[in-house]
Formats: sequence, C-alpha cells, structure tokens
Amino acid sequence: MDFALNDIQEAIRDVARRASQKLLALNAAAYDEGAIFPEENLKALGEMGLFGVNIPERWGGAEAGAVSYALAIRELAAGCAATAVTVAVTNMVAEAINTFGDEVQKARYLTQITAGAYPAASFSLSEPGSGSDAASLRATAVREGDEYVLNGTKAWVTSGGHAGLYLVMARTDPDAPPAKGISAFLVEAGTPGMTASKPEKKLGLRASTTTELVFEGCRVPAENRLGPEGIGFQIAMTALDGGRIGVSAQACGIATAAHEAATRYATERAQFGRPIGDFQAIQWMIADSATQLEAAWLLCLRAASLKDAKVRFTREAAMSKVFCTEAANEICHRAVQILGGYGYTREYPVERHLRDARVTRIYEGTSEVQRVVIAREILKSL
Ligand SMILES: Cc1cc2nc3c(=O)[nH]c(=O)nc-3n(C[C@H](O)[C@H](O)[C@H](O)COP(=O)(O)OP(=O)(O)OC[C@H]3O[C@@H](n4cnc5c(N)ncnc54)[C@H](O)[C@@H]3O)c2cc1C
Repeated sequence: MDFALNDIQEAIRDVARRASQKLLALNAAAYDEGAIFPEENLKALGEMGLFGVNIPERWGGAEAGAVSYALAIRELAAGCAATAVTVAVTNMVAEAINTFGDEVQKARYLTQITAGAYPAASFSLSEPGSGSDAASLRATAVREGDEYVLNGTKAWVTSGGHAGLYLVMARTDPDAPPAKGISAFLVEAGTPGMTASKPEKKLGLRASTTTELVFEGCRVPAENRLGPEGIGFQIAMTALDGGRIGVSAQACGIATAAHEAATRYATERAQFGRPIGDFQAIQWMIADSATQLEAAWLLCLRAASLKDAKVRFTREAAMSKVFCTEAANEICHRAVQILGGYGYTREYPVERHLRDARVTRIYEGTSEVQRVVIAREILKSL
C-alpha cells in the first residue's frame, strides 16, 4: 500500500497550507469574535483555484482529485474552520454541477465558481421541519411554462445571503414517494422572491454565515433545473457522500490545530518545577490524541482514494465522518484539558477549536445517521 502523495496532491496541500498560515490563521480569532464572513480571504482562495479542486480543467478546475481536496480542506481548517466549511460547500456544489449539469449550466455556473467569481456557493437541502429525514422536505417547485415557481422555507444554509449561487432542493411531484418527487435547482443570488434571513447565532464556526432562505413565488428558469425532474434527492445524497470527506478533513484540520497547540503548551508550561509535558498524565493525552488523529486521517484518505478510483464509497465516507468528527471532539476536549484554565479562555485558540469541532458531528448527516448508513451498507451487502 502506497501512502505517498503525488506531485499534484503535494502542490495543492502546499497552496492551501500557505494560504491557511498567511491569510486565515491570522484573522480566525477576530472573525470568530465578530462573526465576520471572511469575504476577502474567500476571494483569494477562489482565485487560487481552491473552489474547484476536483473539477476538470476544462471547466476551470484544478482536476486534482478527492485526496487533494481532502488535503486542502484539512489545511484550511487548521487555520480557520469557518472558512474551510465555506470552501468545502462551494466545492460540493461545483461537483454536483459537474456530475449532473449540462454543458450550458457548466459553462454558465461551474466556470464562475472555479474562477472565484462568487464569494461562495450554497447547498440548500435542510428545512426547519426536515433535517435527518431530508426526503420529507416541503418546499415546492411548480412548473409554469418555461419557469418553475419556488415556495417554502429552507434552513441552515451555509453562506446564505453571501453566496452567488444556491443549489436548492424542492418538491416537484407531491404524489411521488418522498425521495422520488424532489428536483434540484440552480438559483442565482438576487433572484426576486428568494430572501436570506438573519444569520443564526451559533456556538462555533461563527465566521461561517448560516441562514434560512425564504422562497415566495421565486421564478427560476426551467433550464436551471439540475438533472431531470425527480432526481433531486439522488443529487443531494451523491453530493453529501463527497461532502462527508470534506467534513472529515475539516475535523482533522481542527483537531490538528488543537493538538499542536496543546503539545506546544505542554513544553512551555511548568508546574511543580517541571514542564507539564513531563507528567505521564499529560503524555498519555498527547499520545491518545496523536494516535486518534492518525487513524482518523487514514480513514479520510481511504474514502477519498476510493472516490478517486471511482469505486462506491458511501460506507467508507460515513465511517470516516463518524470517526474523524468524534475523534476531533475528543482531541479538542483533551487540548483544553492540557491548557487547564487558560484553555477555557479566548487568550488561546483551543476553546475556538472545541466550539468549531462540535458541529462536525451534526451537519452533513449526524453521527447517528452515519451509523445508520454504515449498518445499512453492511447489512445489504450480505
Ligand atoms: C452550522 C450548520 C450548518 C449547516 N449547513 C447546512 C447547509 O449548508 N445545507 C443544508 O442543507 N443543511 C445544513 N445544515 C443542516 C444539517 O445538515 C442538519 O442540522 C442535520 O442534518 C441534522 O438535522 P436536524 O438539525 O434537523 O436534526 P434532527 O434530524 O431533528 O435530529 C435530532 C437528533 O435526532 C437524531 N436522529 C434523527 N433521526 C435519527 C435516526 N433515524 N436514528 C437515530 N437518530 C436519529 C439525530 O442524530 C440528532 O441527534 C447545517 C447545520 C448546521 C448546524
């Protein structure tokens, strides 16, 4: 088994690492404190090609694959997890258009995303009443001539109000079984009848804006339907399989930053006349975190490698997500413990890492839902 990265993967990792250290990490605490959407940084990341890591060059992407994508998100998340999720969702929308879009949609929208012309792109599946049970969504899209009229309320839209393009799932056939009556639409920012609400006040990822989107008679050209009618749920689930690699990588990035901060602190802080890193209790925490981080990253790489090999990776992406995100939470808790009282303050970054890590167990499918997916995949393979 070869764990070595190829030249392209190394190059993408290095671009993301430099951007993370030179742009994101410096402002992450201030953006978190002020809940500031990092528009300037996103513009720079888009121009670096990080909005289309796994998109063909023909459409302006880096054509660097899913492993490169995971490497990029991990690096960005170590600097600013909120920026990383914005970039991850933007890549997810780009991949959905690449997989399900026609040539006109790719020329019109995919090239805009990959060029960094939008601050972000958004993925809008969830609603106030439908989260884990996404197929029960109630927003509607009714065909009128060569347009669809969208009505309803979407929830938890990452980059809502900032994105240039929204991938919105709405019900086109109320009589079909729930998962079969949904279609996907590309809705441009500023389309009359679509409004973003005030941002949610969140525990973490405060520099990532999360809003509701309200649709009231919003008219979308029929040519903006992504794929045929009725496959919107399939589009969403395909996007989320890949998205879970992104969340895994994001969790690994947050955990890496927390672990490195805690390890450094253990060499600097002295109690009882010696560095706290001399105490076995602290050493064991460092060892457990390092080991969990390594295992988590390998699971993430495995899911990404399968995606690159064009092998079905639903089970592996779910395993990766549940393991990486739960490990990241444990690692961040340990980091706070190693810093003692200082870890609980904003003077050090580990409290932010802990707050940022928490949501990775919730979005793009909760840990419980990942376990449902893993068990279903195993049982149906028997
Ligand atoms: C910061 C943030 C950003 C987000 N960004 C986006 C976005 O960009 N686009 C988007 O569409 N959505 C987004 N989401 C929504 C996110 O995907 C949902 O929050 C998530 O899917 C869970 O849905 P829910 O919050 O409605 O919880 P619920 O589905 O109500 O779940 C509540 C609890 O019940 C458990 N549960 C539910 N069903 C089962 C089951 N069958 N078996 C066992 N346990 C179960 C869950 O695991 C959870 O613990 C975001 C959420 C957050 C918090």
